[in-house]
Amino acid sequence: MKIPMTEYLAINLETEKWCCLRCDHVIGSARKSYKEGLLVYDRDPREIHRPILDPERYEFTYAPDPKWVRILEYYCPGCGVMVETEYTPPGHPPLHDMEFDIDALKAQWKARPKGPVSALGPDTSPRDEGHQHGTGK
Ligand SMILES: [Zn+2]
Repeated sequence: MKIPMTEYLAINLETEKWCCLRCDHVIGSARKSYKEGLLVYDRDPREIHRPILDPERYEFTYAPDPKWVRILEYYCPGCGVMVETEYTPPGHPPLHDMEFDIDALKAQWKARPKGPVSALGPDTSPRDEGHQHGTGK
């Protein structure tokens, strides 16, 4: 049984593995950080938060200093969806942000009825509601 944990991550309780909710790619052991199985893009923060002032003329431009902060983006190797981003000092190891008690999860879900588990939240998938935009009707 796959239990949704975030928008793009699930834990398969039978295999004790993290997996991608979008493409079912097996990411890695659910007893370790999911980030170990994802692709990492170590970004210069100035690419994301562009300077407001001309960097040729000013030392401080309102853009983050890449000597002080990096932006790590994590992507699923199977489908390429961005799973997580984090701001860390350069050289800092990835943050271990989620750690679940897998044995407790198994015990908790064992008592629940079998069947599909849906992620919480509104369904934002596109629907054909039988009308066209811009027709005025
Ligand atoms: Zn994926």
